Amino acid sequence: MPEPGPLEIEIRRRIAAAGPMPVAQYMTLCLSDPAHGYYTTRDPLGVSGDFITAPEVSQMFGELIGLWMAAVWTQMGSPENVRIVELGPGRGTMMKDAMRAVKVMPKFREALVLHLVEINTALRAQQEAALEPQSLPVFWHASLNEVPAGPAIIVANEFFDALPVNQAVKSARGWHERQVGLDAAGHLAFTAAAEPMPHFERLLPPAQRSAPEGAIVEWRDGAAAFDLGRRLKRDGGAALVIDYGHADSAAGDTLQAVGQHAYADPLSGPGTIDLTAHVDFAALTRAVEAMGVQGYGPITQAQLLRRLGIDSRAATLKSKASSAQIAEIDAALARLTGEGRTGMGTLFKAAAYTHPSLGTPPAFAT
Ligand code: SAH
Repeated sequence: MPEPGPLEIEIRRRIAAAGPMPVAQYMTLCLSDPAHGYYTTRDPLGVSGDFITAPEVSQMFGELIGLWMAAVWTQMGSPENVRIVELGPGRGTMMKDAMRAVKVMPKFREALVLHLVEINTALRAQQEAALEPQSLPVFWHASLNEVPAGPAIIVANEFFDALPVNQAVKSARGWHERQVGLDAAGHLAFTAAAEPMPHFERLLPPAQRSAPEGAIVEWRDGAAAFDLGRRLKRDGGAALVIDYGHADSAAGDTLQAVGQHAYADPLSGPGTIDLTAHVDFAALTRAVEAMGVQGYGPITQAQLLRRLGIDSRAATLKSKASSAQIAEIDAALARLTGEGRTGMGTLFKAAAYTHPSLGTPPAFAT
């Protein structure tokens, strides 16, 4: 066993003093503790980091998202001022590629102001550097609620999976909140609250309600989804949410830790590993639609990118490329749209949310 780091010592101290903590509280501390949290202290992305995301795989991803945003702006009636909002922009790669791609629509570029929602100061600096050559106005915020009012186009790739998730485990007596406590040796261990949560089962969709004993269900605090829906309903516009997850609410433990491109134990090294859980798109859509906006999808990432024209974009890039570059473009295309374990095409999904007056957003017509 490695020596516990500062955050693990703090978490053990809190549990010893106050008892086991809910999984969501553990996840919040691991990811966003101001001094030792994973997202507050490091750059997790890229080949040298812990994981790689779609915009880091290929410029085609951000370019197509840029064209989606430009088409939505046209659908909105080409307003003179529009806020382009990205939740959790990472290294700024997606927005950089998007803004380069929309140079073909100068009126859109003149109308937009970028608003980036980011809690990681190191990543904010990288985003600023990535976007600098675009000479566009950029503002940073700690949450969506800080973005000034007005019509907005909101995009989020791999943002919602990083938001804390709650868990409950089923026993013969009902559903017990799953917690992080200490085992006999004083190490972090998953535990369950002694008493079941009364009436919890009534809130669950049927597939989860009928799960067998020992099953785990997950749910997120709806705040981020409610904020998104409320904003679109009040000010107009649309959002595109891309993440890995499932289309329907099912039982299952999806909490996972990733460090150095390999799966790790979620309880090992708090603050030094990334913790995520699948996005339950059905639950996300219920929460956003509760605010009076229209939800579309989810469709798979492969469907999204194909409908936005990734195949012809790849062909154009290849026509100007060396044979080594052609192989790279083909590999990126396979990674972004491929099925199965190595591809992101079906594991990742996309949902869109719009003000009811907008109509079906690009790529979501059935
Ligand atoms: N969208 C990027 C990065 C994904 S990683 C990409 O696809 O490459 C998640 C991003 O969300 C990081 O930028 C992280 O710092 C940010 N983030 C995580 N939790 C956040 C929160 N609660 N508020 C704002 N940003 C957050």
